[in-house]
Amino acid sequence: MNIKLAVIPGDGIGPEVVGETLKVLDKIGEKYGHTFEYNKVLAGGCAIDEYGQCLPQSTIDACKAADAVLLGAVGGWKWDNLPGSERPEMALLGLRKELGLFANLRPAMVFDCLSDACPLKPEIIEGGLDIVVVRELTGGIYFGEKGTKETDLGPVAYDIEQYSEMEVRRIAEVAFDMAMKRGKKVTSVDKANVLESSRLWRRVVAEVAEKYPEVELNNLYVDNAAMQLVRAPKQFDVIVTSNIFGDILSDEASQITGSIGMLPSASLATGNFGMYEPVHGSAPDIAGQNIANPMATILSAAMMLRYTFGLLEEADAIEAAVKKVLDDGYRTPDIAKEGEKAVGTKEAGDLIVEAI
Ligand code: NAD
Repeated sequence: MNIKLAVIPGDGIGPEVVGETLKVLDKIGEKYGHTFEYNKVLAGGCAIDEYGQCLPQSTIDACKAADAVLLGAVGGWKWDNLPGSERPEMALLGLRKELGLFANLRPAMVFDCLSDACPLKPEIIEGGLDIVVVRELTGGIYFGEKGTKETDLGPVAYDIEQYSEMEVRRIAEVAFDMAMKRGKKVTSVDKANVLESSRLWRRVVAEVAEKYPEVELNNLYVDNAAMQLVRAPKQFDVIVTSNIFGDILSDEASQITGSIGMLPSASLATGNFGMYEPVHGSAPDIAGQNIANPMATILSAAMMLRYTFGLLEEADAIEAAVKKVLDDGYRTPDIAKEGEKAVGTKEAGDLIVEAI
């Protein structure tokens, strides 16, 4: 394949972790006969410095012209005093909207050799943990009508949670398609005992489930789901939920793995287009020191090969290489314990390239 990527290194450690990821993709290209073309563009703080805005039109155009987008992270202390609407992080909301990224996929996996980092008791995650949270990303309360008004009781503020059948159907289909490639189990999380929007959610998810007879569907209320995630997380395969519940539950699920430098994510549009990025931010406290963990971004590239390009063997090769490097005892400082071989960002990237 000839793959054209828009690459947004961003700010802080973004350029460092993206740099290692491109090395890994080049190695995959060499081994499996693909070419990767990288169109590097600016978004976030560096774009504010260069263009006076965090998401220039030229960046949006480059992303739309690409087959997929790889992003490092945006933001940093330098831009912390800007008003909310002008901050670097607004670039992320703009990209989601402009690129129609309605499905956010966040896997929470515990690598055996990093199971010590899990804050839960060992027996709770014994045998491994492999969950994907599928979060609806462009609807719900974050995008519903909002405002303030004067009432007899004084000022009141409101945000409206609202979902259309179309929005629920398309995110449910992403979840069921994913479950078919994994453990064939979907847990839909809502608050249907209280919210009308959740009752619509539950009804539409059930309709979608009929098209996937091999997949088991469970419904959980969000309060119970939050408890089950720490009580018995191995019961989950794919969790599908709304924007706000997914925001919270995906962070909870990822914390079970204990290491933010290891967590990839994907945001998908229709037609397999996607933007891939690590869950972590730009980590300004460690930027430029060659100590950031590049694995979350490298694993995001593996998700890209799998979900946008259907290159399953290549995706598996990246994940196996990351696992081998960890099994061989190499660690970046964020996940290293005493006695383990601490390596820098570049060395970690080189080791993964070598393992491929
Ligand atoms: P952060 O994820 O950047 O950092 C939190 C802590 O984790 C820091 O101590 C950092 O050093 C460490 N860390 C993060 N990634 C690491 C890695 N790959 N290797 C080793 N250690 C790592 O979160 P924050 O400090 O809250 O935010 C910093 C900036 O990033 C802010 O401007 C924030 O708005 C932005 N941010 C951007 C994104 C994004 O671009 N998607 C996401 C979250 C935060």
